[in-house]
Amino acid sequence: MKKVSIVVPVYNEEDNIEHFAESVRMAMEPLDYAYEILFVDDGSRDGSRGILLKLELEDPHIHGIFLARNSGHQLALTCGLDYADGDAVITMDGDMQHPPELIPLLLEKWEEGNDVVQTIRQTTEGVSIFKRLTSKYYYKVLNTLSDVPIQPGGSDFRLMDRRVVIAFRRYREHARFIRGMVGAMGFRQVQVEFVAPPRFAGVSKFSLRKMARFAMDGILSYSSVPLRWAFYAGLFSGLCSILLLIHVFYATWMGSAVAGWATITVCILFFGGIQMVFLGIIGEYIGRIFEEVKGRPLYLVAKEPENRKGMESRMDSRA
Ligand code: UDP
Ligand code: MG
Repeated sequence: MKKVSIVVPVYNEEDNIEHFAESVRMAMEPLDYAYEILFVDDGSRDGSRGILLKLELEDPHIHGIFLARNSGHQLALTCGLDYADGDAVITMDGDMQHPPELIPLLLEKWEEGNDVVQTIRQTTEGVSIFKRLTSKYYYKVLNTLSDVPIQPGGSDFRLMDRRVVIAFRRYREHARFIRGMVGAMGFRQVQVEFVAPPRFAGVSKFSLRKMARFAMDGILSYSSVPLRWAFYAGLFSGLCSILLLIHVFYATWMGSAVAGWATITVCILFFGGIQMVFLGIIGEYIGRIFEEVKGRPLYLVAKEPENRKGMESRMDSRA
């Protein structure tokens, strides 16, 4: 019998976990697969940990991996993918926004011979206009900048064949945008659309700051185009200064030159501003290089599942 691993990062989801586990159980029981639900507790501060420990005892399908601190959704997901050993691995959120009823369809597409079944969120019910618009335009910008096409509405609800998961484990960068990485990996990919319902309980764990950081990661780890902007901006301001020079010569020749304090001030501000912006962009990249060069572990596990002891140390021995 084939085994399906369901990987779920959770951060302060005490009111969702049990309902979620029950829904997955209902989706999986009628199917002819062995399965496990691998919860990755991303350093929760509420009762999530206790609930997971209890569920682990009650249901042999459920396992918990407890991270030492909050490492963020993408790294928690990475941890789950490192530990999952199913023939297919499904990653999804634990707040019911990725409907477990869709699991049979994902498995069906997998059995048809696809290696990655990527879900595309058509709309999210009850999400703010702000989040909807920023998401839409973000993907527009991202796609103009990036070499690999990234689907708007792409989510981290997807099925990956074991082969893809093993290949994915070789990508060890810190700043990551998993949906872009998987999209660019190749293999046989297929898409499935879904409508995301509102959260079952609790509030979104993505603060505006976390969203902005995630958005930056998406752009900066996928493209060096922002660095190229410096060249074009330099070209543009160079042209401007030549035009200005022509004007100055002309004014001098006509004898109408005045002490040009305003012009000088504007020029200094203009060029100073452009330089600052690009120093900032370069700084962002250098910061990321610094992070990656340190080669620190992506996440720290405080407690491993009973049946997978010692896995973290094996994973970290980068040959
Ligand atoms: N999550 C996590 N670590 C974090 C933030 C979120 O593991 O630092 C989990 C969260 O518990 C949920 C999933 O990632 O299962 C998606 O988060 P959320 O629903 O808050 O994001 P949204 O759906 O609002 O984009
Ligand atoms: Mg959510």
